[in-house]
Amino acid sequence: MQPLTVDTARLQAELDQLATYSSSPAPGVTRVLWSTEDMQARNYVKQLCGEAGLSLREDSLGTLFARWEGSAPELAAVASGSHIDAIPNAGRYDGTVGVLGVIEAIRALQRAGVQPRRSIELIMFTSEEPTRFGLGCLGSRAMAGTLSSEQLLALRDGEGRSLDEVRAAAGYTSDLAHVRLEAGGYSAFVELHIEQGPLLEAAGIPIGVVRAIAAPASLRLTLTGEGGHAGAVLMPQRRDALLAGAEIALAVERAALATGSPDTVATTGVFRVEPGAINSIPSRALLEIDVRDVALEPRNQALAAIESAINAVCKRRGIGWELTTLNADPPAPCASALVGTVEAVCQKLQLPYQVMVSRAYHDSLFMARLCPVTMIFIPCRNGVSHRPDEYAAPDDIGRGVAVLAHTLARLSTGE
Ligand SMILES: [Zn+2]
Repeated sequence: MQPLTVDTARLQAELDQLATYSSSPAPGVTRVLWSTEDMQARNYVKQLCGEAGLSLREDSLGTLFARWEGSAPELAAVASGSHIDAIPNAGRYDGTVGVLGVIEAIRALQRAGVQPRRSIELIMFTSEEPTRFGLGCLGSRAMAGTLSSEQLLALRDGEGRSLDEVRAAAGYTSDLAHVRLEAGGYSAFVELHIEQGPLLEAAGIPIGVVRAIAAPASLRLTLTGEGGHAGAVLMPQRRDALLAGAEIALAVERAALATGSPDTVATTGVFRVEPGAINSIPSRALLEIDVRDVALEPRNQALAAIESAINAVCKRRGIGWELTTLNADPPAPCASALVGTVEAVCQKLQLPYQVMVSRAYHDSLFMARLCPVTMIFIPCRNGVSHRPDEYAAPDDIGRGVAVLAHTLARLSTGE
């Protein structure tokens, strides 16, 4: 293999061009699923894929598969990709680096004369952001089989339009049942992404290799006590919903601290009381609780501790309670062999790297149900993301693409 060079200027120009497909003014980028701008951006990516000689397929949710055919097409392909949708007034690097970066990685491999054995496939996932239908990772969830056709058909956007109606208007009409992929169809999936956090930049390290992806469990708790006049009801007679909620919020903190895992975090981010008057005993309280870890066991341990605290506090205080699990996607460990491959590439390229966890979740979380995954992180300025001033330096992007290209070469040639 000849030396591999990444054309960072061309890639930057393509990232800038992609950012022009936006429904909000620059430097902000807004690209909502199946909007005019989203369709323009998709066409632009398809054009670039076509120019690189990739063969294209789209599934019935619009996830794009662009394949560089290997010499052994009977072997499972190596995949890499991310998303190009953007929440309102976001930046131009979240997701896009992991889409256009794959195209540049493939072009770099082509220039270097690499002939892959396994096919290399770019996957551009539909709707990683939850903007339109309130659920993130729509495309990858459905591919991994965690979202059924029935659940997809029940989705409505903010204007009350069904997913089926909106996707048909965008030209996607085939049966949603075909979206689901078989496990084992890919030998590996590697996602290149900006860190969206400050650690790499602060440490002056250009590459992060992700060993696990955290996922949240979200709970909604309604507490029902008894209201009354703040002056008239004496303390021993009270059933105050707020005080029960306060004890539970403290128990949430204790539950996270007690797992022994430094990665367990738990937050009571919503706490509302009714009737909310200074002279009235709170009769109802609504709490929403987010619990995360990169491993399922400590997260489940924290959840169990929270539930038993709810039970004990409410029993003692005579409070009624109703607990709903809003979602509980399992976190995903990355494949250690793949992490090792990316580490070996960094060592060969003499690039300092840090093995780390992803605290945000990505399409990789769902791809992990289909094949071994890892992610390559690059620094972003001040750790800022989902904002117009999101920024990754061209050289950092170039280093990420170089690591990705070498990783794909190893995985596809079995080198
Ligand atoms: Zn993203």
